[in-house]
Amino acid sequence: MKTWSIPKAPARASREKAWCRDHRGRDYPFDQAMDLARKFHGHASPGLLIGVKMVTHVMARLPEDRLFDALCETRSCLPDAVQTLTLCTVGNGWLKILDLGRFALTLYDKYEGSGVRVFLDPKKLHAWPEISTWFLKLKPKEAQDPVRLLEEIREARESILSFMAVRLNPPYLLKRKKGPIKICPRCGEAYPAGPDGLCKGCLGENPFERL
Ligand code: ZN
Repeated sequence: MKTWSIPKAPARASREKAWCRDHRGRDYPFDQAMDLARKFHGHASPGLLIGVKMVTHVMARLPEDRLFDALCETRSCLPDAVQTLTLCTVGNGWLKILDLGRFALTLYDKYEGSGVRVFLDPKKLHAWPEISTWFLKLKPKEAQDPVRLLEEIREARESILSFMAVRLNPPYLLKRKKGPIKICPRCGEAYPAGPDGLCKGCLGENPFERL
């Protein structure tokens, strides 16, 4: 039987390593990751470009057959990195944000809580002055060099990240149940019944001016 050799990929393509990978296994080189970021996040922010790298490397460390949830420890950038590459979103409840102000995210087994946490590690930034300046806010934004920053992010790849095995405390694994629904006597809208007899909007959390 005649065998055929598989043609080699062009040299350029083989040199260009993927920057990130989505949950379906689709790879995105750096330029395409910039496009993903622009489409979802409005612009290719440094935090999102590092964030999609974080998600990619955490996913690669998880067992393949598990259903995972996500936890972000900051509201900035990282929730969008998770939502760009995985099916975990704020809306479906598989992505939670615990705003501790740390640039870290975790993907974990949604039933038993074991997972992998990744963070941007200040101890690994000494070789990357522009990433340090941006991350630690060493200079005002106008004095930072955005082109050099992107170059450093692209060169540093995952070398600036640290990973750790974690397990979530059981209370964080519980699904929040809404319980019974009532109609608020003041605004007439439906809300999860609580002890106060009014919805949160009517209890003072209404963000709107009266027009
Ligand atoms: Zn109300």
